[in-house]
Amino acid sequence: MKVPFLDLKAQYEPIKEEIASAVNQVLETTAFAGGPFVADFEKDFAAFCQCQHAIGVGSGTEAIWMALNALGVGPGDEVITVPNTFIATAEAISFAGATPVFTDIDKNTFNMNPELLESAVTPETKAIIPVHLFGQMADMDPIMETARKHGLFVIEDACQAHGAEYRGRRAGSIGDAGCFSFYPGKNLGAYGEAGAIVTNNDELADKMKMFRDHGQNKKYHHSMIGWNCRMDGLQGAILGVKLKHLDKWSDMRRKNAGLYNELMGDIDSITLPQQPEYARHVYHIYPALVQNRETLMACLAEKEIFCGIHYPVPVHLTEAYRSLGYNKGSFPVAENIAGQLLSLPMFPELEHEQIEKVAKEVKAFISSN
Ligand SMILES: *Cc1c(COP(=O)(O)O)cnc(C)c1O
Repeated sequence: MKVPFLDLKAQYEPIKEEIASAVNQVLETTAFAGGPFVADFEKDFAAFCQCQHAIGVGSGTEAIWMALNALGVGPGDEVITVPNTFIATAEAISFAGATPVFTDIDKNTFNMNPELLESAVTPETKAIIPVHLFGQMADMDPIMETARKHGLFVIEDACQAHGAEYRGRRAGSIGDAGCFSFYPGKNLGAYGEAGAIVTNNDELADKMKMFRDHGQNKKYHHSMIGWNCRMDGLQGAILGVKLKHLDKWSDMRRKNAGLYNELMGDIDSITLPQQPEYARHVYHIYPALVQNRETLMACLAEKEIFCGIHYPVPVHLTEAYRSLGYNKGSFPVAENIAGQLLSLPMFPELEHEQIEKVAKEVKAFISSN
């Protein structure tokens, strides 16, 4: 029995006909760029996120970049985020013209440590981007408090956290804006590239809607210099179909995580993911802290169990960001975790027997090493 890291086909099979019919409608109406299918999805996704507005764009990276632009973050500004994220968070800051400033994470949740946040604030700081990593929201109350105290914007990087909650509030609904990716492997995945920004700020929403369509609100009447960030009609229609299943899929992920916790909770040398009382984790990733990670991963692969590493190099130590001047030791918690985290197979359709096999092989490895 093979246990893939991710199985997109298993998710496609049961919704094949719904998808075909949605795709066909787009083809028949030729609404390919933006248009009614994107607008319908935006309405549904905003409601899903407990927000007034959703703006569909081309990717999650673009969503973060556009939110920064619309909030007026640019050259000379600093934006605080975490070093253990997908590089896109930092890239969006850089391409808005601002400078990423990192702050270390909490060792239990792997998210921004609110206690360290304040010491990263300078007179140049304009915004904070907490990342809801692996499907669990950052500790938002103290982050918002620090932001309000210093007059900073908060943009939630919710690219891995569709439907995650913090004290009953959904990812994307707490900051000034929340950014989502619909990359195929994300909890809500398009059949290509797509992303969205959600917000409760009417003015910001209007600005972003214009910006993503060449600064026009009426065809060929451009009131600002914008860009083309429109979402594809096909992706809008497909995401609209898949969104209806998302709460069920999140529950399935949570159930799978519960089974991993139950089967591996007694292994001393492994730390399983923690869920603080404020969080509803949607397990985009099921991350475990392990010893001898590379050997364990290779042994599991031999048994046809495929894992991932998120992420092997923290952003401040990548070659791309060497110019920021950080070193090994700058963010000890993030660095330590980067060397030990192993992402076990996780997707909604993962079967009970597959999870049992993973737990069994992990235990076999530990008892023989
Ligand atoms: C996937 C991801 C992004 C980028 O989204 P794309 O749609 O791939 O551009 C940004 N931040 C995080 C944390 C992500 O996981």
